[in-house]
Order: sequence, then C-alpha cells, then structure tokens
Amino acid sequence: MSVLVVGSIALDTVKTPMAEHADLLGGSASYAALGASFFSPVNLVGVVGDDFPKEHVELFRDRRIDLDGLQTVPGKTFRWSGEYMWDLNTRETRSVELNVFEHFTPTLPGGYSETPVFLLANIGPNLQNHVLDQAAKPKFIIADTMDLWINIALDELLRLLKRVDMLILNDGEARQLTKETSLIKAAAKIRGFGPKYVVIKKGEHGALLFGDGKFFSCGAYPLEDIHDPTGAGDTFAGGLAGWLAAQNGQAINFDALRKAVVYGSILASFNVEAFSLERLRTLTQNDIAGRYEDFRLMQQFEIIE
Ligand code: AMP
Repeated sequence: MSVLVVGSIALDTVKTPMAEHADLLGGSASYAALGASFFSPVNLVGVVGDDFPKEHVELFRDRRIDLDGLQTVPGKTFRWSGEYMWDLNTRETRSVELNVFEHFTPTLPGGYSETPVFLLANIGPNLQNHVLDQAAKPKFIIADTMDLWINIALDELLRLLKRVDMLILNDGEARQLTKETSLIKAAAKIRGFGPKYVVIKKGEHGALLFGDGKFFSCGAYPLEDIHDPTGAGDTFAGGLAGWLAAQNGQAINFDALRKAVVYGSILASFNVEAFSLERLRTLTQNDIAGRYEDFRLMQQFEIIE
C-alpha cells in the first residue's frame, strides 16, 4: 500500500548556535515523503518554482516517490528561514516567502485518489480539506498542523478534524488548540473534535498516543549530538504513515499505531543528526532496525508481537 503526502516543499535557511546553512531542501512534504519512503511507495503532491534544483527532484525519484502530483510552475519556490536558540527546542521564524505557494491548488492526478493512507502534512487546512475533497475512500487519514493555522484558520482546521482519523501536533499546539494545560485533557478534547487517535509530540521528551481508551508514551532516543531539529515532526509523521501503509491489509488499531509511533520516532531521531534531509539520504534499513532494537531495550516495552 502507498501513502499520499501533501505539504510544503521548500528551500530553507536554518541557523543554529553552531552553524548556518542557506537554500537547503526542506518543507513538510519533503521530510514526510522521504520518511515514509523507507517503508512504502509515496505519491507526492506539492508545488515548486522553476528555481527548484534538479538534484532534489532526483532524490525524490530515487526513493520510489511518485512525482505525477508535483507541480513545477514559473516563479520562486516557497522559502522559510528559522533560527534555533541554545536548547535547540526554541525556534524563531525569521522569514517566510510564499512565492509559488501563494496560488497553489493541490490536484490529485489519476490514481492518487485511491491511495489507502493519506498524510496531510503541514499546510493550510483549506488545502488539506481540498485534498480530501478529491479522495476516494482512504483507509486512514492523518493530519499535521501548526500554531499558525490554529491562530488564523481555526474554523477550517476544525472542519478538517471532523474528516481525519488521526491528528499529530506538538504539546504547545495541543494546549493552544484546546486551552487545556493538561495534555490528557487536551487529547480528550481533540478526539471530541473528530479524530479517533491523537499523537502529541513533546520534542526531546518523546510522544504520546491516545485512542481506543488507551494511552502509549514513547520516549525519544537519547541523542548526543543534534545538528538541526527542522523537520523532526514531519519526518515522524512520514515514518509513522509509511510504516502503517506497509502493513498491507492489517487492521489499523491501537497496537499497530503504537508500533508506528515507534518507527516515526526512530526516523525523526535520525533526521535531526544532520541539516536538511542529509541524514535521511544515507540512512539504511539496517540503521533503522538497529535503533528499533535500542528503543525496545531502552523502553522495555513489548512492541514486538
Ligand atoms: P518542523 O520543524 O516540523 O516544524 O517543519 C519545518 C519545515 O516546515 C521547514 O522545512 C519549513 O520549510 C516548513 N514550513 C515552515 N512554515 C510553514 C508553513 N507556514 N506552511 C508549510 N510549511 C512550513
């Protein structure tokens, strides 16, 4: 089974206390698609300008990522710039240039509407809703979001939440969306908005999964060196969605999602070890399997049947 990924494809400039790099491949869909591609084929929906480097297109192509849904239009690619503080958890957006994203309407090419797993990575909820309008009957729909949309497009986001099976967001966003301080109450409230399952990410403190009256806490891998946290959340969502899609025909229930959260966490932990998508470029299935074993021992949980 494959995953449809829609989101932003960007050229990022990222500054950390240690280094600064300009014009890196970024965007929620780039990270999510590459993350998912370790487990399943991906149908990518997005837009780039005619300045988008060919080598990035080649990277997607090398990874079984179908590009029929990638629009290349005259103009400049979406650009984002951010700066991290010393804790590498706090980030300030320095600039956003929408460019070709401003007039982007995601269109699903023939066949994409039948994709069984949809990952609506971080973009405006109006665009996420528009993608769902074109979907046949996906087996599982996952949405990601960010503080910006909670601030400026809440009604559209609430309309989206009625249509998705799972929402992934970080702890600050969960509190902002629900006005609850307790993450347990926040998750219950979000499930009341529509999604059967909720994942709340807590950065270096791991992620929480809620649903079916159950709860799972997945710790983050204790990394010695983090070079660039950008895209950790998107890679997490991509790994989770890709792993689910790869479980051909198996029921998507809490137990499956628990394991998917572990794989999402593994992919995210690798991604932050280098700038942009550089670590995902060299990552192997052996690396993933090794870290899965580390996770199992570290957490002492029975994630293996
Ligand atoms: P994350 O670190 O998971 O928040 O994701 C960072 C990525 O999101 C960067 O590569 C940016 O290009 C992209 N991004 C930043 N702002 C937006 C936005 N408003 N809409 C879509 N993507 C964005």
